[in-house]
Amino acid sequence: MTDIKSQTLLELQKEMEELGEPKFRAKQLYGWIHEKLVDSFDEMSNLSKPLREKLKNRYELTALEIVKVQKSKQDGTCKFLFRLPDGNVIESVLMKYYYGNSVCISSQAGCRMGCRFCASTLNGLERNLRASEMLDQVYQIQKWSKERVSNVVVMGTGEPLDNYDELLCFIQLLTGEGGLHISQRNITVSTCGIVPGIRRLADEKLQITLALSLHASNQEKRRKIMPVANKYELSEVLDACRYYFEQTGRRITFEYSLADGINDGREDAEELAALLKPLNCHVNLIPINPVRERDFVQPDDHTVTNFKNKLEKSGINVTIRREMGRDIDGACGQLRKSYMDTEKVR
Ligand code: SAH
Repeated sequence: MTDIKSQTLLELQKEMEELGEPKFRAKQLYGWIHEKLVDSFDEMSNLSKPLREKLKNRYELTALEIVKVQKSKQDGTCKFLFRLPDGNVIESVLMKYYYGNSVCISSQAGCRMGCRFCASTLNGLERNLRASEMLDQVYQIQKWSKERVSNVVVMGTGEPLDNYDELLCFIQLLTGEGGLHISQRNITVSTCGIVPGIRRLADEKLQITLALSLHASNQEKRRKIMPVANKYELSEVLDACRYYFEQTGRRITFEYSLADGINDGREDAEELAALLKPLNCHVNLIPINPVRERDFVQPDDHTVTNFKNKLEKSGINVTIRREMGRDIDGACGQLRKSYMDTEKVR
């Protein structure tokens, strides 16, 4: 059955034409799915019953099931565990900021990138998510919270550029007219550095923000903590980032997770400053979120501040990411992992 929530308006128009429906039908349907965010054909009250039956037989309407919601007592951050139609589980996060509500979504069930500090990759990749399954994380959270989602970050489980076509379809549907119509500038896609993907995305000339997970200031060190660096050299990654900026005019965000004794030293900061100085960028420092199965530890506050100051002295724009939802398995993939572990035990 065709996955109707992953279809663009143009594709829906073709489908409705094939069904012999009038032209306005596609827009009506699209509005029900992407603006009113209904979960079933039966809720589409201005469509006739026979048509609704016809649609049910022909199309699948993805609606993720909320398995669990964990709300942080510290900052109100909510973590959602969703069940997909095939039984896989994924997680998403809702963060409330002064500028609006931001949702962090997963792009894959599991991940095959193998970053040493990350919980999402511990059980490998299950499968890619469909555009509809990425969208529905946003839709279900907006419905649950009864508040508009204004920002979306693709920073949950998975490597978005390892699921390129579905990611692009997702962005199109999320930002296009007739749906939630979220501004491209309010969308961030985070990648571990898949060079051909970054270049391809640059050529799409979208206005989304690209976040690059750097985490080390030289190739040798990066290779030790991020296996993807065996495939793409740091210099190639930075060239691709430069290309992204040239093509889109969008400043790159570099993410740098600080781990005690691994990448948080004075020399690391100096090398990083020299590396990034020529680039038009922003650096986001993230004190590493300890994951049970990994032995990475957070540096103390003093080290984090020193690191930030070093970069700032070189004229680099830096922020320290406020830790959110620490009490609710905040780090990537931890909620999904702990759920899967307890399911196995049962
Ligand atoms: N695969 C993409 C997006 C998902 S991870 C990527 O690699 O960018 C989102 C960000 O969280 C990445 O920068 C990732 O390196 C970082 N991250 C993962 N686990 C972390 C942890 N335990 N502590 C701090 N940052 C972590």
